[in-house]
Amino acid sequence: MEKKRVYTFGNGEAEGKADMRNLLGGKGANLAEMNLIGVPVPPGFTITTEVCNEYYEIGKEAVVKILKEDVEKALHGVEVLMRSKFGDVENPLLVSVRSGARASMPGMMDTILNLGLNDEVVEGLSRKTANPRFAWDSYRRFVQMYGDVVLGMKPTNKEDIDPFEAIIESVKEGKGVKLDNELDVEDLKELVKRFKLAVKEQTGQDFPVSAYEQLWGAICAVFNSWMNERAILYRKMEGIPAEWGTAVSVQAMVFGNMGNNSATGVCFSRDAGSGEDLFNGEYLINAQGEDVVAGIRTPQQITKIGSQRWAERAGISEEVRSSKYPSMEEAMPEIYNELDKLQTKLENHYHDMQDMEFTVQEGKLWFLQTRNGKRTGAAMVKIAMDLLHQGMIDEKTALLRCEPNKLDELLHPVFDKAALKTAKTLTRGLPASPGAATGQIVFFADDAALWAADSKKVILVRIETSPEDLAGMAVAEGILTARGGMTSHAAVVARGMGKCCISGAGAMNVDYKARTVEIDGVVLNEGDFISLNGTTGEVYQGKVNTKAAEVSGDFAQLMDLCDKYSRLKVRTNADTPHDAMVARQFGAVGIGLCRTEHMFFESQKIVAMREMILAPDVEGRKKALGKLLPYQKDDFKGIFRAMDGCPVNIRLLDPPLHEFVPHDEKGQQEMADAMGVTVSYIRQRVESLCEHNPMLGHRGCRLGNTYPEITEMQTRAIIGAALELKKEGLDPHPEIMVPLTGILYEFEAQEKIIRDTAAQLFEEFGTEIPFKVGTMIEIPRAALTADRIASRAEYFSFGTNDLTQMTFGYSRDDIASFLPVYLEKKILKVDPFQVLDQKGVGQLIEMAVQKGRSVRPELKCGICGEHGGEPSSVKFCHKVGLNYVSCSPFRVPIARLAAAQAAVEEK
Ligand code: PEP
Ligand code: MG
Repeated sequence: MEKKRVYTFGNGEAEGKADMRNLLGGKGANLAEMNLIGVPVPPGFTITTEVCNEYYEIGKEAVVKILKEDVEKALHGVEVLMRSKFGDVENPLLVSVRSGARASMPGMMDTILNLGLNDEVVEGLSRKTANPRFAWDSYRRFVQMYGDVVLGMKPTNKEDIDPFEAIIESVKEGKGVKLDNELDVEDLKELVKRFKLAVKEQTGQDFPVSAYEQLWGAICAVFNSWMNERAILYRKMEGIPAEWGTAVSVQAMVFGNMGNNSATGVCFSRDAGSGEDLFNGEYLINAQGEDVVAGIRTPQQITKIGSQRWAERAGISEEVRSSKYPSMEEAMPEIYNELDKLQTKLENHYHDMQDMEFTVQEGKLWFLQTRNGKRTGAAMVKIAMDLLHQGMIDEKTALLRCEPNKLDELLHPVFDKAALKTAKTLTRGLPASPGAATGQIVFFADDAALWAADSKKVILVRIETSPEDLAGMAVAEGILTARGGMTSHAAVVARGMGKCCISGAGAMNVDYKARTVEIDGVVLNEGDFISLNGTTGEVYQGKVNTKAAEVSGDFAQLMDLCDKYSRLKVRTNADTPHDAMVARQFGAVGIGLCRTEHMFFESQKIVAMREMILAPDVEGRKKALGKLLPYQKDDFKGIFRAMDGCPVNIRLLDPPLHEFVPHDEKGQQEMADAMGVTVSYIRQRVESLCEHNPMLGHRGCRLGNTYPEITEMQTRAIIGAALELKKEGLDPHPEIMVPLTGILYEFEAQEKIIRDTAAQLFEEFGTEIPFKVGTMIEIPRAALTADRIASRAEYFSFGTNDLTQMTFGYSRDDIASFLPVYLEKKILKVDPFQVLDQKGVGQLIEMAVQKGRSVRPELKCGICGEHGGEPSSVKFCHKVGLNYVSCSPFRVPIARLAAAQAAVEEK
């Protein structure tokens, strides 16, 4: 059978339906469906998305040839229903030609309205409607649109305005008027004449007179627009494949600009901003579609309540509102009632919030489009829960309706929308940690602490951050760095703190000495205000007001629903009691990674820590470790308390020691004084700790294996804290994790120290507690030999930050230098440090889980790299049978939703 390429709709009948969106595009499928359920839609037809692919394979002429008969037949059907004729002078049918892909791509492709007009037809239309202004206005809009879209009219210089707009401006100037609607019929005729002249001049062709020639030009232009720059960019951003193609819908024109009983508008079945179950929208009397969006005239509210709310915000009295700005509900009550009924019908039919376009032509209401409306994160949650409670969708559907990443919007402060409108963007970096922050620039962590103590709000601006900056980061409103990727120190720590952070803002030149930062010629000083949008990566000059996010009851209900369906547990990466508490409130059921090194950076601890590192021998190290022990034990007690009853996985010291020592003269002098040695000794020790490649150097369990006394001290602190709390009646569940294991023996040696130390403590305390000893799997060799390692390790935690680094051979800290180019050139689709590489790194994980469980079937497996809070990676973790994911506190709800979706999608 010959392939069907054209699907008709009209008068309550349609060849397509809603579930054919892959073939007919979202718009075409919904136009068909609306016909089937009795919503008035102007008749028309849809050319399939498959034809778009044919267009790119066999070219324009061949496609027109195979479509010709079907299109003419379908158009004839429209003529019959509309009792008019395409191209006829006395009784003309005009059509619109629109794009419509499978996924909504708002504004990305082209549309042509009023097609079918020429110099004679316009006169016929004028007589038929007895409205010459309307006829000529439609004609000039058509010539302009067709000229732009189909004939490719462009300004000669990129600085110039659109050639048609330039003509309109000059005619308006000549007449001394400001607005388009002040132009009369003669002016409009003049415009059309000059438009066509401009077309001839620029393209060397006459404007097409034949209606069919116009139609084919428009259909092909829509196919062409699938490959225009903005559509390609949008597809890239949204992950829409080029093979999907666009459909083309050709539909009889209806006119909202035929007088005061005509109108056009856009409406939503619920509030897209808040999710409130309230019909709302905007309309304009006597106007055509684009007038509503073009901002030439201010549209009015559709509902009375919407209008009243708008007036209240604008400070307009009820008296003035109802007389000057009446809602559609008041101005056109009958049409409004019909619109309201139909919007309810559409929402009930699609079981989701609808975004609809309509036109009223001389008192008759037509729907031109309906689609599931785009919405904010807050609206997404409220609408899903409301629809569930109203019995429109079931629990699983409610879960799938929510996009995990969008939950972020609910959890962090946000910019005030009005304030953002006037804000000046300085530059853009990587959106490392979401939220909005505004404050005064400081360049050093200690200054941040001082300024914050003085009740100032600060933004810490650094070339990059190191663990030494932690205290400053903790008090800052936000963090901005010139270097570093999504897993740079600043990014990881900020996400953990739920603090707004932008990293890798490469356009920024930070001068620590002068205490200035220069961005594209703008020089900012310490103390100047800047604002960061960590969700988009945008940096603004000056203060932009923020407001706290609200976590509503609907959110809590959604989270409960997640737990009902998910198999994967969600823990958190937390290093402080505060972070642990926050995560617990968000539903974390334990700590999956506590990075102990983050605890060493407060003032007294850092001195003892440095003493330990700089000590000349074991004795010196042991002495310093003795000072550190009580601090560590206190820290662990705080965390065990916050997570009472839940597992707490504490990792032994991991980073290279040189990260802790002072590199500046002042700090070195301080250490010399504290230790009673010379500065040159300290300098020499610091230099000897420097490594060419610290990420692959003296770190991880290599520290504990070369300095076993560190492992011993940390075990004493962990187990000791747990034993003391047990005495207080609490219920701690410690897990001790060895980092960066690559060889079984590395683990065994550490395990022995841990178990021996614990046994000693049990004896000292006269009581015992259960604990586990496990390891990170973050070196490819560990994954490859996972069965050997599992013979001793009681659990695995996949450190996918390092595992990604070592599998790809990309440095975590330096990826920003080439990643943008790799993404641009499509060498990489996504940043592998953000989205788990399932094929490569994922294969190692899956294999390690299998190998590990082959020798220890009950082996608990989790993930604690940054991927543990990224939805597609969480779903992968579910698929390969991990027991839990662990992520920063503010990503816990996202991971819970992704885990539930993974379970629901599996069935
Ligand atoms: C990892 O490597 O994935 C990990 C969690 O450890 P870190 O980021 O501290 O190296
Ligand atoms: Mg690691």
